[in-house]
Amino acid sequence: MLYNLHTHSHYCGHGSGEIHEYADYAASRGFSMLGFSEHCPLPDGSFSSTRMPFSSMEKYESDVRASGKLAPLQIYLGYEIDYSEHFDSFYRMISDRTDYLIAGVHFVERPDGTYHSPFYAGFSDDDVRRYADAAVKAMESGLISFLAHPDVFLCNRRFDKVAEDASRIIASAAAELSVPLEINGNGLMKRSTEYEGYPSSGFWRIAREYAKTAVISTDAHAVKNLDRTIPFCRAFAADSGIGVLVPYAIDGHLGFRTEKEM
Ligand SMILES: [Zn+2]
Ligand SMILES: [Zn+2]
Repeated sequence: MLYNLHTHSHYCGHGSGEIHEYADYAASRGFSMLGFSEHCPLPDGSFSSTRMPFSSMEKYESDVRASGKLAPLQIYLGYEIDYSEHFDSFYRMISDRTDYLIAGVHFVERPDGTYHSPFYAGFSDDDVRRYADAAVKAMESGLISFLAHPDVFLCNRRFDKVAEDASRIIASAAAELSVPLEINGNGLMKRSTEYEGYPSSGFWRIAREYAKTAVISTDAHAVKNLDRTIPFCRAFAADSGIGVLVPYAIDGHLGFRTEKEM
């Protein structure tokens, strides 16, 4: 079964492609399910350089709903959130009017109030610990269908003891809370010669101690990338001893089962 639940578009400002172009492409490639998970803007305008203006949410949501009515496959409306307790009630309101949410940790806040991203060099040991805490809080919120790129903190780092500890914290919480983790194909396109980046074999070796399955996503930001890394994600899962989860709709929510159970 072909699906992708982590999809961006021109709406976020750093992606391209219209919603209907993704839907048409997915249909032409035989997808059964396509979910849009645009980076969720915040009411106070935080992180506005990496997400749509707050005022565009209505248009994005109606655009996805309209495409869903026309497309010959299941289209789901979602957001990728950067969870924080400060915006908990806002995210609950968004959750009520969408089909699903996923969370990614794209920033951590240091005690001095500055934000640091795992996508850039200088992500410290303490930042990795903060990253793990933020990931656990997102899962504990009960708002998300899966945790996106749980290993993105390894973008610019080696898999050392700090990384192993963080991996264990994230993977054990995911198993305890029954939140699937995601094998993210977008990392493949960003690999440098210096670091493995994500998906990280070190992370998934630990993750497998806690759960034997994962969601796979391409995290596409361009139409042509919607299915480009699916074979890679499948191969990575197989090499890591991880089974691929497939989504299904249940009472207006998304559930997951392993491919074998279908
Ligand atoms: Zn993005
Ligand atoms: Zn993300």
